[in-house]
Amino acid sequence: MKATILSIGDELLIGQTLNTNAHWMSQQLTAIGVDVLRHVSVSDKRAEIVGALDTAMADTQVILITGGLGPTSDDITKDVLCEYFGGALVFNEAAYENIRQIFNRRNREISEATRQVAFLPDNCLPIQNAFGTAAGMLFRRDDRVVVSMPGVPYEMKAMVENGVIPYLQSEFTLPLILHHHFYTAGVGETQLAELLTDFEKNKPADMGLAYLPSVGKVRLRLTLKGQDKADLQSRMQAARETVYAAVKAHVYAEEDIPLEQVVGRLLAERGKTLGTAESCTGGYIAHLITSVAGSSDYFKGSIIAYSNEIKQQVLGVQAATLEAHGAVSEQTVREMLSGALKVLDTDVAIAVSGVAGPGGGSEEKPVGTVYIGVADAEKSVVLRHGFTNNRERNIQLSGVLALVMLKNFLQDR
Ligand code: AMP
Ligand code: MG
Repeated sequence: MKATILSIGDELLIGQTLNTNAHWMSQQLTAIGVDVLRHVSVSDKRAEIVGALDTAMADTQVILITGGLGPTSDDITKDVLCEYFGGALVFNEAAYENIRQIFNRRNREISEATRQVAFLPDNCLPIQNAFGTAAGMLFRRDDRVVVSMPGVPYEMKAMVENGVIPYLQSEFTLPLILHHHFYTAGVGETQLAELLTDFEKNKPADMGLAYLPSVGKVRLRLTLKGQDKADLQSRMQAARETVYAAVKAHVYAEEDIPLEQVVGRLLAERGKTLGTAESCTGGYIAHLITSVAGSSDYFKGSIIAYSNEIKQQVLGVQAATLEAHGAVSEQTVREMLSGALKVLDTDVAIAVSGVAGPGGGSEEKPVGTVYIGVADAEKSVVLRHGFTNNRERNIQLSGVLALVMLKNFLQDR
């Protein structure tokens, strides 16, 4: 079953309001096995609304509409829908009672404009609004369902959860949807796709594979749809094993938990303490690690060695090293690591030094050059990265990559 999400409101088109309704409704529909074919946003104009409806009615069975239900003259959705489906507006007792109760609670008189909100098309099924005055309206034409709801997100959400979803589930046989996620970090989507070339070639036609990238991370999503739960589960399990075998080096979780929490667990399991020595990340890695509840069990502290002075005085980086190789160098990061292990007295340390930008780059070390290291008493690893020319992204990437290095380091121990 296919759906259109139609968002109505001038505020969406001029960039005043972000269309969070479409985002949220898509998640709800997808979760019950309805395919969202299209998001459409239009202004509060009759011709626009009718045009969008015509298109949606032609190729989708479920049409969820938000916006344009207020009492003011700029909100015209109700009139347009009433006319579109050939109904007439009639006074609705239940809708009026809802308005009366809301106004009583606020100790306010009901204006004529507000009373008009209680007039609903006589050919719709009203959906009660638990949090506002404007009722939702559900129209049926043949096997198609059109639902109009207010634009206010919390009013709409209650209607979708308590009215629309139960209605769709009782009226139609919807497929079961099974997802499996792999959370990866430190690898690009192109590289992941290369690792999964064989899987993509051989996977069943009805198996979905999606790459969902964010800074330094890619979420892989496998999807199967059908009616037989046991069959879906066994097919998903088989696919999961194949995909995992191909990308396991990059997977940090198969459930939605942060990378910093995965790393925290590894430290806790091994009884290891951690400290960081941070130059270009300015404490960002320490912030990530301490955003996990219980991190005091394994995280001892951080030295933000932003200046050369602090690198030398607190971490014991040699003046000669800075002189010969520069602050952004493998040698400096190695000395930052041993300084951190000593000063913070931890089992493991992370150190970072780089050119976050936008200034400070050179031909040899352009903006985005970042050295990240991890060490314990026996071993140290330092890698050079070439990130972007965006300061914020470089700091975030350094954080993610440092955690990935720490994860690999700990898993090898
Ligand atoms: P309306 O039902 O058109 O009176 O919308 C009421 C309010 O809901 C608007 O002023 C917006 O702040 C908000 N709103 C409308 N449409 C959306 C949308 N698609 N996503 C998020 N908020 C919205
Ligand atoms: Mg509006």
